[in-house]
Amino acid sequence: MKPTFERGALLGGLLVLTCSVQFGLGIVGAAGALPGALLLGVGITLLWLHFDLPAGHTWVPPLVLGVGILLSTAVLELAFRPSFAEWFAPLAAVLASGATVAVLLRSRTRCNLCSRRLGPADLTFRCPRCAQQVCEETCWNFEHRRCELCLEQRVHLLPLESSWWLRVAGPRLTQGKCQVCHADAEQAELQACPKCRRAQCRGCWDYSNGECARCGAALPDLPVALHTVVGSGLPVEKSFQG
Ligand SMILES: [Zn+2]
Ligand SMILES: [Zn+2]
Ligand SMILES: [Zn+2]
Ligand SMILES: [Zn+2]
Repeated sequence: MKPTFERGALLGGLLVLTCSVQFGLGIVGAAGALPGALLLGVGITLLWLHFDLPAGHTWVPPLVLGVGILLSTAVLELAFRPSFAEWFAPLAAVLASGATVAVLLRSRTRCNLCSRRLGPADLTFRCPRCAQQVCEETCWNFEHRRCELCLEQRVHLLPLESSWWLRVAGPRLTQGKCQVCHADAEQAELQACPKCRRAQCRGCWDYSNGECARCGAALPDLPVALHTVVGSGLPVEKSFQG
């Protein structure tokens, strides 16, 4: 959902439904109003989130339910008989709705790439190149330690400034060939491995996450995002909340 109009209609409809059901239950008295508020808190929130999970607006369903039930309670109190216990109904609805949202959010995190709904047990990885939280199953590439999209689009990570390369790998080589792609010093910017001194072009250094294709040594002072994946290739974090 998406357009504001649809969202507004959903919100209005749920508010009317909540008020009328609560009003009907409230006529019975606190014995109907309190359990009713709890059930409505859970039920309406489930219904709401089924159609529309408001990203970053998780406080909206509890607030709307609280206001709706408060309205019903006020009308009941003024029109029928006063009952102190019934004033707790809005609070019960807010708590029930808040708890429902919390439970659903935990189990409904989505992968940033394929939008697959993730369960609480699913592993996610934060891609060092695009910073997206992606699922282990289809979107994380273990071999290259980045998300599939960054792999496909060859997203660059290492700094482009020559000063950085000078600091971590010494001066650019004027002869030789890249040990990976065989580009020569005129075609590519070759840098020597700090450990084995073999030439590797900047593109191949980047593609290999800053590691030498021959000896496996990593360049010093790699970007912080890479620290978490270089070497281990293991999960950087497990997350439930997108
Ligand atoms: Zn995914
Ligand atoms: Zn990525
Ligand atoms: Zn190369
Ligand atoms: Zn090396």
